[in-house]
Amino acid sequence: MSSTVQPENVVTFPAIKPGHRLVPAKVGRTNDTSVIAYVECPLFCIEDHVDEPVRNIEDIVHRGDTASLLVPTFGYGAYPIQMHASVENDPVAADPQYRAAYISVQDAGGSGSHLTPEMAERLADEAVKFASQLRSQARTARLHNKHAVEVAA
Ligand SMILES: [Zn+2]
Repeated sequence: MSSTVQPENVVTFPAIKPGHRLVPAKVGRTNDTSVIAYVECPLFCIEDHVDEPVRNIEDIVHRGDTASLLVPTFGYGAYPIQMHASVENDPVAADPQYRAAYISVQDAGGSGSHLTPEMAERLADEAVKFASQLRSQARTARLHNKHAVEVAA
């Protein structure tokens, strides 16, 4: 009969939550006094928490890839209207909606909205409807312009 003896001087490492990995994060008031701490980071997060240091460990926010919609213009400015969306979560937020993964939608200036996954799906449905209406408007404008050229000729 074999028996396993558990060592008494070993502290087991806590298990990492499913859907997370352990990553280094730089935390501190200044670069000279900062330390590297290891934090659980959700798999969607692409932030480099060392390159983006925070003053306090509770300031760490996790962010995924950004999807962008840039509206061009033949007028003034390259992209006067912009919309950027990414998955985020703040693991120590007081509001449980921020502790859960949510979608942050922001304009170029950083103003924006925070959406639950369900709200983001409804917005996506509205964006599809908007795209269809935009195509219809493009057809209308193209036909109008073509007619105007034919009448002028
Ligand atoms: Zn992260």
